[in-house]
Amino acid sequence: PPNPSTTSTKESKEGLVRGVFDTVASSYDLMNDAMSLGVHRLWKDSFISLLRPGSRGPIRCIDVAGGTGDIALRVLDHARETYGDRETRVDVVDINGEMLKEGQKRLKKTMYHNTPQIAFLEANAQALPTETFPDNTYDVYTIAFGIRNVTSIPDVLREAHRVLKPGGTFACLEFNKVTNPVLAQVYDQYSFSVIPLLGTILAGDRASYQYLVESIRRFPSQGDFAQMIADAGFANGGNFEGDGGGWRDLWGGIACIHTGVKL
Ligand code: SAM
Repeated sequence: PPNPSTTSTKESKEGLVRGVFDTVASSYDLMNDAMSLGVHRLWKDSFISLLRPGSRGPIRCIDVAGGTGDIALRVLDHARETYGDRETRVDVVDINGEMLKEGQKRLKKTMYHNTPQIAFLEANAQALPTETFPDNTYDVYTIAFGIRNVTSIPDVLREAHRVLKPGGTFACLEFNKVTNPVLAQVYDQYSFSVIPLLGTILAGDRASYQYLVESIRRFPSQGDFAQMIADAGFANGGNFEGDGGGWRDLWGGIACIHTGVKL
């Protein structure tokens, strides 16, 4: 039987996260640019170039915590522009209907509107309904700036492993730990003072952006997260020869890409 105390904590965290993204949905894309000074675009470009969607023919991709569809659209653009692939498909999954609605608005302005290449689906990454997301379905599972918001990382990894085909790739882009002490100090100052201030000025919402900063602080280190990925049954993806650990730091660890292959 469910343990009432953990259940209520879990529900309150999920409610809180849903509330945070409800409030920020309409300003999310603008805030992303403002907070990261546009750098999130470079990180997302690195993420997509590493995955090279379309390079081995059309794929089925699931982009979890996909929000307004930023990663999904980049996957489709990369496949089309680099490999002439118009058959790769991405399912964008998010727990928050408001974020998905913003994504659908955005989709209307693209060439993928009204094509089978992209779908927006509301679901919890920790428990993807099996009728919509059967076992062994996807070639690639992406999650960008989403896994730190969930209540149980192991549950998300278990579901990622379940829905991927054997040999499929798990890829996560997330804020991580800065190791250089000087950079760490500058970054701390920036995130604890500038980000909530930008939240107040641009989105009229300090608390949600404060929450986002704190969630970054609580996220496991690169090595601990890599271990969790291995524990879920993934092998080191081999995308990072020479890095050794299955991850690649971007900007000294401000962000980081982890990959794994389903065994
Ligand atoms: N991936 C997008 C990007 O990189 O621009 C959006 C990232 S946004 C910071 C985090 C997203 O995670 C939000 O849209 C939020 O609703 C979603 N999210 C949080 N918890 C989730 C969960 N348990 N299942 C699915 N999505 C979740």
